[in-house]
Amino acid sequence: MENCVFCKIINNEIPSEKLYEDEDFIVIKDINPVAPIHLLVIYKKHVPVIHELSEDDQRRFWKVFNIIKKLSEELNFKEYRIVQNNGKQAGQEIPHIHFHIIAGRKLGKIG
Ligand code: 5GP
Ligand code: ZN
Repeated sequence: MENCVFCKIINNEIPSEKLYEDEDFIVIKDINPVAPIHLLVIYKKHVPVIHELSEDDQRRFWKVFNIIKKLSEELNFKEYRIVQNNGKQAGQEIPHIHFHIIAGRKLGKIG
């Protein structure tokens, strides 16, 4: 997808610090971290929001849990928040599905 920052990162057109990669997902460090650990688990296929995922896409998302488990062990964090924004009103800046993994400091309540 043209002009999508995450597609460009996936295609190595924009540099990033990749911590994990498989055929469906990559994990990078957020460029503007809000906590000591702020990772982005990015779906490699350009799908803007969760409700546009096909059933085939959805079946691949079980991996996200394994990826988080693996990274929490590697980076040694056990307490964390997962954030996933859909649409501008929800605060989504980049319309390409990704999960924020935020850890390493006390986080306030959401709402
Ligand atoms: P959203 O607001 O769409 O849920 O989250 C987008 C996230 O991507 C933001 O936290 C932002 O800091 C991060 N981001 C934007 N551009 C880049 C970039 O070029 N590289 C990396 N690593 N993160 C980015
Ligand atoms: Zn994209």
